[in-house]
Amino acid sequence: MSRGRPLLVAVAGLGFAGVCLADPLAARREYVMGTIAEVRVHAVDPGVDPEQATEAAMAEIHAVDRLMAVQRPDSDVSRVNRGAATRAVSVDHRVVEVLRASRHLSALTDGAFDVTVLPTVRAWGFLDGHPRRPADAPRPAGYRHVRVDAVRDEVAFDRADVGVDLGGIAKGYALDRARTAMLERGVRSAYLDLGGNVATLGLAPDGRPWRLGVRHPRRPDMLIGVLEVGEASVSTSGDAERFVEDEYGRAGHVIDPRTGRPADALVSATVVAASAMLADGLSTAAVVMGRDAFADLLPRVGGRAVLVALEPGGRAVSWVSPGLRFDVTDLAPAAAEPPFNH
Ligand code: AMP
Ligand code: MG
Repeated sequence: MSRGRPLLVAVAGLGFAGVCLADPLAARREYVMGTIAEVRVHAVDPGVDPEQATEAAMAEIHAVDRLMAVQRPDSDVSRVNRGAATRAVSVDHRVVEVLRASRHLSALTDGAFDVTVLPTVRAWGFLDGHPRRPADAPRPAGYRHVRVDAVRDEVAFDRADVGVDLGGIAKGYALDRARTAMLERGVRSAYLDLGGNVATLGLAPDGRPWRLGVRHPRRPDMLIGVLEVGEASVSTSGDAERFVEDEYGRAGHVIDPRTGRPADALVSATVVAASAMLADGLSTAAVVMGRDAFADLLPRVGGRAVLVALEPGGRAVSWVSPGLRFDVTDLAPAAAEPPFNH
């Protein structure tokens, strides 16, 4: 479950979080996909009902949740996980789309993004809401063992120990669908937020680019800076929301598929990409890949990022993609420790 404040927050003017945008024409906030979904409509074409548009957007998100949630025994993904090692399982085409995109991302990231993390994620208790460090956790089988037939809409595993978890990418996909639903209904300006993923439509209510505050990964009441984007897809991953904290330190819910252990190369990765699905998958991969490897990948996928790592002494260091409009927030008022390096 997502705790505390959103990882990305819309801000107006030059201020901190809490400075709200103009009142929307219609807004909805619902608990779905294990987190809070928020949809706000700020401008529509003449004659368009903004309430109906927000409803349509929420319906898309709920539909993706019903198909892909591993917590739901009746979801397509759960049926796949129960049956695909013995026979090909028929699924909705949306599941095929996400699995194919996942495979593409796995290839691009050298396997850092890998949806076969389910057995590891489960062993760490990240699915039942009681994260704990296991004595022993299985390593992911590997994405190559998932066979997707995009013509017949079928999925099969070629090994018995494969388990698929789309938690690193499905929220982005749901946001893409929700945004498209609004666009098709004549929405001109909207803000959609789904647990660390943000999709915008058009410009902000003030007619300017959207300004998104990126939450400090260790101090929830603070921002590390403000990102300025037009119509965009942005996703933040890291260990700020779901983690195990014990005498060995903090272990977040992003798994390094090579080791079967929580990844710790970055504490937070915020990615701007061409689609919300891509941003979502890439931000998860970034936490595994670390700064250098991920920064090398970014130009090839047309993405931009703000990456935050913790140095051994606990000092946080951020790296910002060239060309990204990101204003570092003045942390001075409450910052006892040194703020970020650039
Ligand atoms: P996100 O918040 O988008 O970074 O997604 C984190 C979620 O993605 C975890 O809770 C898992 O469900 C899933 N996940 C964890 N590690 C990986 C990985 N290496 N590749 C793909 N999905 C992952
Ligand atoms: Mg993700």
